[in-house]
Amino acid sequence: MKYARFITLTVAILIVLAALAWPQELAPMPQEDDPGILDFLLTGKYIMFFVLSAVGLVMLLMRWINRWVRLGALAVIFVLFGLDLVFPVHPSPMCGITKLFMFKFTQGTFFPIFIVIALGMFIPSLVGRKLFCGWVCPLGALQELVNKIPSKLRWKQFNFTAFNTVRMGLLAMFFLTFFMVKDQIVYLAGETGADAGSETWRAFSAYSVYDPINFFELLHWNVDAMDATWVIMFLALLVSSYVLYRPFCYLICPIGALTWLIELFAPGRVRVDRTLCNDCGVCIDASPCPTIAKLVDAKTKAAPDCTSCGECLRTCPTDAIKFGFRN
Ligand code: SF4
Ligand code: SF4
Repeated sequence: MKYARFITLTVAILIVLAALAWPQELAPMPQEDDPGILDFLLTGKYIMFFVLSAVGLVMLLMRWINRWVRLGALAVIFVLFGLDLVFPVHPSPMCGITKLFMFKFTQGTFFPIFIVIALGMFIPSLVGRKLFCGWVCPLGALQELVNKIPSKLRWKQFNFTAFNTVRMGLLAMFFLTFFMVKDQIVYLAGETGADAGSETWRAFSAYSVYDPINFFELLHWNVDAMDATWVIMFLALLVSSYVLYRPFCYLICPIGALTWLIELFAPGRVRVDRTLCNDCGVCIDASPCPTIAKLVDAKTKAAPDCTSCGECLRTCPTDAIKFGFRN
């Protein structure tokens, strides 16, 4: 727990320092008819971010979740946000982090659309642990759906510390690029006028840690871009999700990394009543994640992410597992 608090503090300080280090003089003149934060917040996609998070929260509190309910919820999430049929897939949750900061860097301002995605991800996740990841994210839903295919190859208790070290390392590198390449970016922005389609965009992208491993790009379903790289990445995602629970979330995703850190502050969470738990292990066998084993172990310092899927809630024969705001 101490380790996680230290990392949280370090990341928070890095983010604040990065924000302070950015140039302000490149901010474009605001246009009166540009949509603002509220305009984006009140569109269907972002309203549904909050609605689905709230639905998830109610279902967790009421303990209405079992494997089949969860399967249905995952399918709905994937169809709504992952197929470009109901809501536009652009911009993806990953952009809510990378492009939020990229435009601040190249144009000197946070763009409202990316602020809204960030709000849609982090406000629910501050209420209940990773509510966004568990109840809204289409890439999380796809990985979890694949993981539900019956298999003898499941590797549930993988080395979370190793995965998390890679994930936190990527996040640290992402923020450090703002300091390491600041001068180049400022120069390029000044040279090019720094509009979204400019060389500045591409130049910055070259520095972006997440560009080559942004699996959200797969869900853009861009037929022209479905080249060998797309196929290899898609197969890698499917195969790894078949064996591991949410491999992209645990190994790469910056939202996963940040929401793992703010799990510490989210009051709504799965709680294990140690006075009722008899260490029978039924919940560990019945749940899909590596997390519940750590939550029932009183000695755990930093548990893997709990996506608040709720599948463990009704597995305990002594009713020791609950989702709530207080012990
Ligand atoms: S960690 Fe990233 S990919 Fe996984 S559910 Fe959360 S936002 Fe989606
Ligand atoms: S501990 Fe695991 S099964 Fe329980 S809600 Fe969290 S992720 Fe789901």
